[in-house]
Amino acid sequence: MENNKIEKKLSKMAKRVKSSIIRELLKYSTQPDMISFGGGVPDPETFPRHELAKISSEIIEKEYKVALQYSTTEGDPILREEYLKLLKRRYGIDGLSLDNILLTSGSQQALDLIGRIFLDEDSICAVSSPVYLGAASAFSIRTQRFINVPLEDDGMDVDFLEKQLKDLDKKGLMNKFKFTYVVSNFHNPAGVTISLEKRKKLLELAWKYDFYIVEDDPYGSLRYEGEHIPNIFKLGDIEHVILLNTFSKILCPGLRIGAVIGDKSIVRKLVMAKQSADLCSPALTQRLVGRYLQRYDIFERLSKTLELYRSKLTTMMNAFEEYLSEIKGTKWTKPQGGLFSWVKLPENVDTMDMLELAKEKKILYIPGEVFHIDGKGKNYMRVSFCLPTQEQIVEGTKRLVQVIQEYQAKSG
Ligand SMILES: *Cc1c(COP(=O)(O)O)cnc(C)c1O
Repeated sequence: MENNKIEKKLSKMAKRVKSSIIRELLKYSTQPDMISFGGGVPDPETFPRHELAKISSEIIEKEYKVALQYSTTEGDPILREEYLKLLKRRYGIDGLSLDNILLTSGSQQALDLIGRIFLDEDSICAVSSPVYLGAASAFSIRTQRFINVPLEDDGMDVDFLEKQLKDLDKKGLMNKFKFTYVVSNFHNPAGVTISLEKRKKLLELAWKYDFYIVEDDPYGSLRYEGEHIPNIFKLGDIEHVILLNTFSKILCPGLRIGAVIGDKSIVRKLVMAKQSADLCSPALTQRLVGRYLQRYDIFERLSKTLELYRSKLTTMMNAFEEYLSEIKGTKWTKPQGGLFSWVKLPENVDTMDMLELAKEKKILYIPGEVFHIDGKGKNYMRVSFCLPTQEQIVEGTKRLVQVIQEYQAKSG
């Protein structure tokens, strides 16, 4: 069919989906001499490939009746069991049973399913500004009504959120308000962590106005310094908090295993929504991770990864201090974990516009406006330190400074 004919047939949802600029940029990152601060993916050298290869072969030979069969929609009971143990041991989260947990095809599917069960076209939800792109795309195909809450160094501006909620309440719109979505630790893209005070305040608001907090925490175990702050899920109650977790950043993203932990009735609804999406997540990778967790201490093994990322982060922060600080009006977040720092440039710099020049100079980043539903963030960029080598981090920072200086000279 011709293009405009296809358009006529497409659903409203299909017209709303956009291709991600991050995927586009990945094409350039393989060019020779290119240094990329763009990728938000783990270093493949941290994947335990020999261990996984061995277990894979074992379970395909010996457990083929499970590993190569359909799984239940809820997910492999062995992995769910191991996951509950891990939550207890690592985060002190207990009192849960298998009915409180659904395994998903990555956290991305959990975000999509949450959109499906909560959001109608006139629903309202709150997100941070900037926002995680995957969440923004999962929610914005369902509704366009967002409360964009500014993000501060210690997490979202809860006073702003409270004011907006009061407003909604006055207008009698609270029944349209469904949830507040937060990334509690080492935000993507901003690198910031929600303080204990703000976690408690968010819960107070959730109790007062009766809404869900969707706590997305892929990076909680990737802390390089400072003290762990209890999850909102742990501080709060299961009637108001839904926790999203994933093996993508602590094991390997290619396995596509995420988990939703929440109230049984919510989990049941998500299970039904998942049935129409994919029946079940791959049984093979679920059993693989289940057996991996039984055999190895995932957090002990993670300590080498943490050491690697910690030293790369230090290199980037030192390089920024030495070179990037030369540019007046520049600020950046100093994350205590995760994969990202968020750089604020002078107002006259449009990072999307500057990208062409950056590609010429062989340095990549992700322009800040990508992470905004509200059209802001033009003078920001997301940079990641986990993939480039130490040398590339220093050289890349020098290139970045050159690019910004040249761009500023050109645009006057
Ligand atoms: C990487 C990431 C995820 C994980 O996505 P998967 O689908 O599990 O690979 C979820 N949320 C945020 C904020 C992320 O940065």
